[in-house]
This record gives sequence, C-alpha cells and structure tokens, in this order.
Amino acid sequence: MSETPGRPRRFPLLLDELGGVASGSANKSREMLMPQRHLQQATIDAAKQAAPSGLGLDSAHVRERMSQRLQRDGLRDERVLKALAQIPRHQFIDSALANQAYEDTSLPIGHGQTISKPSVVGRMLSLLFEGASASRQGHLGKAMEIGTGCGYQAALLGLLARQVVSIERLKPLHEKARTNLASLPRGKRPDIRLIYGDGRLGFAPGAPFDSIVAAAGGEDLPQQWLDQLAPGGRLVAPMSAPGGRGQLLVVVDHLVDGAVSRFVRSEFEPVLFVPLKSGVL
Ligand code: SAH
Repeated sequence: MSETPGRPRRFPLLLDELGGVASGSANKSREMLMPQRHLQQATIDAAKQAAPSGLGLDSAHVRERMSQRLQRDGLRDERVLKALAQIPRHQFIDSALANQAYEDTSLPIGHGQTISKPSVVGRMLSLLFEGASASRQGHLGKAMEIGTGCGYQAALLGLLARQVVSIERLKPLHEKARTNLASLPRGKRPDIRLIYGDGRLGFAPGAPFDSIVAAAGGEDLPQQWLDQLAPGGRLVAPMSAPGGRGQLLVVVDHLVDGAVSRFVRSEFEPVLFVPLKSGVL
C-alpha cells in the first residue's frame, strides 16, 4: 500500500468524484459491479445455509441476539442497539466469512483493511450521541465518516443521522461499499453520499458536520476535521497514543459559549484501528 508520488496534488479534482448510493448508471461502472453482484448473491445464499442455531444469517433474530449480547456487555444507547439489530452485517463481508458476521470480531474486507468489531462501532456511535447537538436533537445530524471501508458503519450512520457523507481513499473499497449499500433491502437503504478521496481533508462542500467519526487512526487530528465540525458538534476518532503506545479513542467537542467557541479534547480507552493514510489509491 505504498503512496503514489505526486498523486496528492490531484485531490481537489478527485475529491468530488462521487456517486450517491443510488447512482452509478454509467456503463463502465455497471461492468465493474457485475462480479460484485454475484458475490453478493453468493453471500446471501451461503448465509441462508449457514443457519447457526437453526436460523439463517438473513434472519432478524440473529442480529437482535448480537445487539442483546452487546447490551449485556455494556452498550447502553437504545438507538445504536436498534440500528445494530437492523443492518445485516453479513451482507458487507465476503461469503467465506459470513458465519462470523454476528460475532464481536473485526474481519478482513480486502485491500489490507478490516471491518471494525460491532462493539467498537457501537461505542463510537454512542459517544457521538453524547455530543451537545446530538443529545439535544436526538439524532446525529449531519455526519461525516472517514474510512467507508465496506460501508457497514455508513449504513448504521444512515439510520442515526439526517445526512451522511462517507469518504474512502481506496477506490475498490469505495466501489464495494456502494454495491453493498445498494443491495440493502429498500427500506434499510439510507441516503448516504459516498466520496472517493483523502478523508484527511474532510469534505468542505458538505461542512459543517454535527458528527464526525474516523474509522482509521493517525498521528494527529487533521485541522480540516476541526474546521468542519459544527458548533455543538462532536468528533470521535482513534489516534496514536504518545510514545508509540498504541492508539486511544479521542473525542473532540466544539463548544460554544456566547461568542466564544473552543475545542475540548478527551481521551478514552485503547483501541486498534487501521492507519489513517494520506492520498488516494
Ligand atoms: N467503517 C468501515 C471500516 C473500514 S476500515 C467499515 O464499516 O467497514 C478503515 C478504512 O479507512 C479503510 O477502508 C481505509 O482504506 C480507510 N482510510 C484510511 N485512511 C483514509 C483516508 N485518509 N481517507 C479515507 N479513508 C481512509
């Protein structure tokens, strides 16, 4: 996963190269997506056969049981638990791994990346709900995700926020997420704007955001994320701990008191996320 020299200079041109979930009607992208459709069908077929405890993975009961286990293990936010019980995680991963989809484990999604553990995804979404705007409004408002990956967390955000922008720097994953999200049942297909670009730059045309969540951890928090965080908004991201001691979950609140606005940073538990990289591939 080496960086291509000179590519970052092209960001402004590439950043807005985008399709909404429902777009992608160009012939070229249709050709590219065909094999994915077969994979998707294979996933669904395999899931139906897997049937742990007598239930297919496409059964709502399997997801509800995962959500109940996460609640027992300390995840409290009812809205997040409900969203976790709704989105079919097995449809976001390869069929060979589908029978592990509802275990609390991270799984490979290709290109050296992983889908995060449901408990960690749930934790980050719960932390977002504790931000000032989200607590007041009862939803995550305008949300930006950095690191679309397979699109699973974006699908959850789609149920919890009013608008979602999700940025991915790896083109094949950006395309995969679009396919995965488009294959959700109609009622669960949220309105998510998928961007192919360097998420370190955020997405200025969509700013300001009430909620920002990063699924990859860097050495620093890019200034653009803070610039694009709405007053009252909250950012949740993994970040390298000082002295090379792994990563920590970091929260930044954009607080406003009269005319004075300030950013308050808090640190939470150690986490393990893939690295936040620069540029696009
Ligand atoms: N939320 C994802 C998790 C994917 S893993 C899911 O539910 O599947 C994190 C993702 O962040 C990877 O796909 C990786 O390519 C991406 N990433 C890393 N650095 C990035 C950057 N600067 N901009 C956008 N995406 C980035």
